[in-house]
Amino acid sequence: MKLSYNRTKIVATMGPASTNKDVLWSMIKAGVNVCRLNFSHGKPEDHQKTIDTIREINEQYKVNVGILADLQGPKIRIGLVKDGGIHLINGKCINITTHECIGDDNNIYITYDTFPQDVQADEVILLDDGKIQMRVIETNRIDTVVCEVVHGGILTSRKGVNLPNTKVSIPSLTEEDLINLQFALKNDVEWIGLSFVRNTEDIVDLKRIIAESKKNARVIAKIEKPEAIDNIDGIIAATDGVMVARGDLGVEMPLEEVPLLQKMIVRKCRAASKPVIVATQMLESMITTPRPTRAEVNDVANSVLDGADAVMLSGETSVGEFPLIVIETMAKIVKNVEELGYPFNTTLEPEFPADPANYLSDALCGSAVYLAEHTNAVGIVSMTVSGYTAFEISSHRPKAGTFIFTSNKNLLNALSLVWGVRAFYYDKLESTDQTIADVNNILKEKNLIEVGEVVINTASVPITKKGKTNMLKVSVVE
Ligand code: PEP
Repeated sequence: MKLSYNRTKIVATMGPASTNKDVLWSMIKAGVNVCRLNFSHGKPEDHQKTIDTIREINEQYKVNVGILADLQGPKIRIGLVKDGGIHLINGKCINITTHECIGDDNNIYITYDTFPQDVQADEVILLDDGKIQMRVIETNRIDTVVCEVVHGGILTSRKGVNLPNTKVSIPSLTEEDLINLQFALKNDVEWIGLSFVRNTEDIVDLKRIIAESKKNARVIAKIEKPEAIDNIDGIIAATDGVMVARGDLGVEMPLEEVPLLQKMIVRKCRAASKPVIVATQMLESMITTPRPTRAEVNDVANSVLDGADAVMLSGETSVGEFPLIVIETMAKIVKNVEELGYPFNTTLEPEFPADPANYLSDALCGSAVYLAEHTNAVGIVSMTVSGYTAFEISSHRPKAGTFIFTSNKNLLNALSLVWGVRAFYYDKLESTDQTIADVNNILKEKNLIEVGEVVINTASVPITKKGKTNMLKVSVVE
């Protein structure tokens, strides 16, 4: 069976290189499914313009591109430094202070008020993506921490700080995050990314705010800290989706551990039917060159083979010189792996206890994938209001297309992140027979299925009850 569309989704970070409407539409036609707004950069008015452009494109071209609003979280930075950069020399000592100052050879300011209270002697401090390393010598527990430079270099203003060993007491949602969250919720974005997640409570707190705002946004937990790895099962159970945020993860954890951590997180997310994005430096060299390195092509391909729902681009599409070529390149790599080597129809051993509320519909969804495989069906066609069926069917990674019909408008765009799912709006409440005939016809008109082909229909009967999936039908398209 030839695949009519890519199953692994593409998330593109928006920025000056990609927010022009024509450029963005060409990127979407080439394969972008979700646009990521990175709230670590950009002004609210720029994000508003980008959101408006995406919604305009969705409306005009009848597509369902989703939006992921990525909150910065408790990102720690140093302040300004003198003369555009200071030279940190191996073996020398320097003070890190919580009093705002222009950094020099003796003192550097850190944007973390309780740093002297939280840190302990011998803990590691990493600056500028780990390029500079220091070691804590002592803290006065008030305002100053004395550090020794382990790996020096030139340190420029406002660089990020990572503290892999420190129990950071900053709340998971900063004041700035709360403002950006309200902005994202006001705009009804489908996904909210939470950076530097440490434990289940971080997710629960964010979900509580979303629920109190009476919004439907779903949460992506960005895994980039050792504490998140320690609490990974609880975080996956609490969240709606996950991002393997390899940029910070590779600074906070030993770099050589990242490949297997990626595989572990992807496997657990699939087993829990939660979408998982693999992110950062996937085609990094394409920021300035129109062809990727061989290693980057392998990285994208291997992430697809790992079973990620989506692969993500950051600087490549936000500030890079070749945003369209990047998407075309990524889409070609995905297509080739899916046509020639992807292990379809795989069900993973459950890693979490069965959910008593859903075990019947879980069994139905698993059976739909089994039936599709054994009848060589071209599609599994489902109706859903909550989206549960879509996430569940997708987690089995069926070779047949996953065609989801829903009257839930927010869900339409949210499903753009989920592996293999193509979603369509459908709000009639006819009989089950009529609905099945209707949705199959819609797919036929869109040339996604043809007369004589087999599809598996799932539904909930009686249809007016809008209950859980409880019915399967094998149909030959007429
Ligand atoms: C990352 O660290 O890999 C990541 C995606 O986060 P950000 O781009 O927000 O630093």
